[in-house]
Amino acid sequence: MTDLAELQRFTPTKPFFVGIDSDGCAFDSMEIKWKECFIPRAIEHLHLQPVAKYARAAIEFVNLYSQSRGTNRFFGLIESCDWLLQHPEVAARGFTVPPLAKLRAYCANDPQPTEAKVVALHAKDPSQDLEQAINWSKSLNVDIKRMVHGIPPFPKLRESLERISAHADILVVSSTPKDALVREWTENGIAKYVTFICGQETGSKKQMLEAAAKTYPRANVLMIGDAPGDFKAAAAVKARFWPIVPGAEEASWDLFHRDGIDHVLNGTYAGPFEDRLIADFQAKLPAKPAWVP
Ligand SMILES: [Mg+2]
Repeated sequence: MTDLAELQRFTPTKPFFVGIDSDGCAFDSMEIKWKECFIPRAIEHLHLQPVAKYARAAIEFVNLYSQSRGTNRFFGLIESCDWLLQHPEVAARGFTVPPLAKLRAYCANDPQPTEAKVVALHAKDPSQDLEQAINWSKSLNVDIKRMVHGIPPFPKLRESLERISAHADILVVSSTPKDALVREWTENGIAKYVTFICGQETGSKKQMLEAAAKTYPRANVLMIGDAPGDFKAAAAVKARFWPIVPGAEEASWDLFHRDGIDHVLNGTYAGPFEDRLIADFQAKLPAKPAWVP
């Protein structure tokens, strides 16, 4: 496992540093994971069958198409239930949205909830909602293993890494478990471009960026990501951010390859160019769903 101390000890070998997210940024894996695994298992384990259509819309909104895209799975589940509660069709059906009281109480006090921590909590203080959340999480993990494979990186990712790796130390900064990341990056022949592959075990994205990039000039640090959380991590360490826009990932990578890399290396990315890309990215991800006035 790569820990934060190891990242902190890392000595730069190139003038630039690039952090890159994996799910939805390097790989087109968000849609299949959410639509084929997370959502069906949520409908099953939280007993959302009577409002399946609206549950699907709420979970897709939160985790794929909103400011919360890329959030932790348990935070996403809670937020989805919040939006579901405000859906007029759900109210019209007299459906009781799962209150998730124990899960909410736990998540309010832990910035990085994990399945293992929810399991430990449930062992100490059993409740139906924790049990449902655990069953959901475990079963979707099984589904992902079975369902999600053979997903190639986005076009122009490989070419971009090849070019920028001559000038930059590259770190995979992801909240996916590390073993899955190593498998995906290795089987696609792109692990060779990166110095470290870091997943959820290493820490938060901000912590990883902070530790690994601390000795580079700030102007030479770039984060590439597809979620507002990636942008926040970049902003927190004063790094530049290149958005891979959900729904327009190919165009984002093409622009990076064609134009972005040169701007980053020449120090001309910060300013109007970066501001415009970030504004477009934010505009694609609303804060509330269409059914909430
Ligand atoms: Mg992502």
